Amino acid sequence: MGKMAVVINGKELAKKTREKLKIECEELKNRGIYPQLAVIMVGDNPASKVYLKNKNKACQEVGVQYIEYLLSKETTQQELTTLIQKLNQDPLIHGILLQSPIPDQLDINQAFRAIDYRKDVDGFHPMNVGRLVLGQNTFISCTPYGVMRMFEEYGIDLCGKNVVILGRSNIVGKPLSQCCLNKNATVTICHSKTRNIEEITKTADVLISAIGKAHFVTKNMVKEGAVVIDVGINRNEEGKITGDVDYEEVKEVASYITPVPGGVGPMTIAMLLRNVLKAATYLAKGEE
Ligand code: NAP
Repeated sequence: MGKMAVVINGKELAKKTREKLKIECEELKNRGIYPQLAVIMVGDNPASKVYLKNKNKACQEVGVQYIEYLLSKETTQQELTTLIQKLNQDPLIHGILLQSPIPDQLDINQAFRAIDYRKDVDGFHPMNVGRLVLGQNTFISCTPYGVMRMFEEYGIDLCGKNVVILGRSNIVGKPLSQCCLNKNATVTICHSKTRNIEEITKTADVLISAIGKAHFVTKNMVKEGAVVIDVGINRNEEGKITGDVDYEEVKEVASYITPVPGGVGPMTIAMLLRNVLKAATYLAKGEE
């Protein structure tokens, strides 16, 4: 047996990031800019409430003002658009975040398009997604951005590496694949129709799982010395949170591994704040 993987401490790294952002936030305030994030939640989703609580707490730590709009589950598309437009026009609001999921009668893509792309701190607006694909300065969605920060912080260079990503969602898999490509990795994306997944994951120098299935990634799927990033958040019967990776056995073969909880999750929220400060800075400069 080789030596155990280095554990990438997302909790610690997120704390460090928030401390840095707090200083940046202070500097903005000294210039008369008070960064403010507006969050919209439609309906009453218990998981979303927990996420919002955590986002609010992180905002307070950094000194970003946080304002919440809780809309009823009967909200119409027009009502949602009207609120978004109001926030777009409000010069005191720098970031707008629409918490998903939203009720079925609403079209989330239409809502994302309604957000001013300069305030789109989640990076879901087609303008920002397009800019990411073109390799231009943009708002990178928070989870992929957090993963990229982890690579940077731990000195993991992606250039020429085989990166395999499990999952192709618009919020994680797809933008993450683009980020890795922009760092000159050779990227393979797997999804529910992929055949012989195990053969593909075994070629990975860096394996990232964003599927949402506990214990999906087992030791036999991982090459010796691979970097393993676990984006998954799953709850078992006792309500305990686990990732997609069979952590105990995979850490015996990996060179680096992220735990769940305490890995990618905290970094996601830290990068949201990073994006709010970026939006505040750019809006103040009038940059597009
Ligand atoms: P999602 O929209 O449900 O997408 C899941 C992806 O996994 C899809 O592309 C799906 O393929 C693929 N998939 C499902 N079963 C598979 C299988 N057996 N083999 C291969 N691929 C399979 O999920 P998401 O929003 O991207 O989130 C993924 C996970 O990350 C969830 O556990 C979520 O809670 C977690 N998450 C964590 C954070 C964080 O901050 N840590 C942030 C966001 C999400 P198809 O496209 O073919 O259906």
